[in-house]
Amino acid sequence: MMQESRELIIRKIKDGIVIDHIPAGRALTVLKLLKITGKEGLRVALVMNVESKKLGMKDIIKIEGKELSKEELSIIALVAPTATINIIRDYRVVSKFKVEIPDRIEGVLKCINSKCITNKKGEPIRTRFITVSKNPLIIKCDYCGTHYTAQDIEYMLA
Ligand SMILES: [Zn+2]
Repeated sequence: MMQESRELIIRKIKDGIVIDHIPAGRALTVLKLLKITGKEGLRVALVMNVESKKLGMKDIIKIEGKELSKEELSIIALVAPTATINIIRDYRVVSKFKVEIPDRIEGVLKCINSKCITNKKGEPIRTRFITVSKNPLIIKCDYCGTHYTAQDIEYMLA
């Protein structure tokens, strides 16, 4: 059953990305993190709460006609550390890898500290966070020094 649903998802895509093994219920957060809203005109398929041997339940996202770099995809690890990426070209998986938490996260997350310089109006500063620990996840705002854990990430999505 699991194998079937998985095959189905991957086989149908010509060029693009399949993000597999997302913890159940996190698919929408992953899309938000990648700043994919659906308004880009990309064909996006989302499967939530399907059986997984590894995770019990999982989500899967399929994005057609777009390729993201390994670096761009690495931020997925912040909300879905178990995720695996399949890069598809001409119906074939040309690359498969696990996401890894990057050492620096730039321009993706918002610092929650309202006093942080990155939140000052009229001063557009690209946010930057430094990874202090990967497991458990702890990141630090490079401007104000505030530490954040995995639970905070959802609130830091702009
Ligand atoms: Zn800050």
